[in-house]
Amino acid sequence: MIRAQGITKRYGELTVLEGLCLTVEPGELVSILGESGSGKSTLLRIIAGLEEADAGRLLLGGKPPAPEPGKRGVSMTFQEPALWNHMTVEDNILYGCPLRGRQQRREQAALLAGRLGIGELLKRYPYEISGGQAKRAALARAIACRKSVLLLDEPFANLDEKSKAIAMEAVRQCCAGMTVLLVTHSREEAECLSQKRYQLERGRLYG
Ligand code: ADP
Ligand code: MG
Repeated sequence: MIRAQGITKRYGELTVLEGLCLTVEPGELVSILGESGSGKSTLLRIIAGLEEADAGRLLLGGKPPAPEPGKRGVSMTFQEPALWNHMTVEDNILYGCPLRGRQQRREQAALLAGRLGIGELLKRYPYEISGGQAKRAALARAIACRKSVLLLDEPFANLDEKSKAIAMEAVRQCCAGMTVLLVTHSREEAECLSQKRYQLERGRLYG
């Protein structure tokens, strides 16, 4: 569960978030729509612990989150996929995956990569795949680590139509039952994936 109350964030003179309130119930996928520059990524970074709000209260699973991002039970994908170049796509996907058995891990990587349409690329390195493929690998990695909360920052932007459809279907299947906050500037994506949608405008959410 994510609960944000009165979150305010300023960069110098610029107030990006102003008293923002949001609740994402356990197992729910909520999307936030907003124009470029409206503060979507800033909000996700605050929830992930990568940035600090100037005011407001955040609860994850009903409790104040650990200050360290790695201890928050949150996984996040970024607009620009961040993969380890010295690891294969498979090892990238399994980085942070709690499964221990070798066979189980293999199967997990194959399952997620298959659903995301990158099943043929598991033995390649990130510099041997396209940007859209890397984006899907990063999405698979975020899902594989099975944290309580999943934050997706424009996960389908810059994907061609076919990859986008595959990735959206994968999110629908793989994230069912997970607590997911997805931000996008695409109304179509938001409508397709979530029951609950908000618009981020002038630092606040509108239903
Ligand atoms: P979105 O993800 O909705 O496109 P962002 O959260 O990235 O928007 O940015 C919101 C606003 O905050 C933008 O005007 C951006 O320029 C500004 N901003 C983001 N990060 C910083 C930063 N580290 N320093 C100063 N301004 C920033
Ligand atoms: Mg952004």
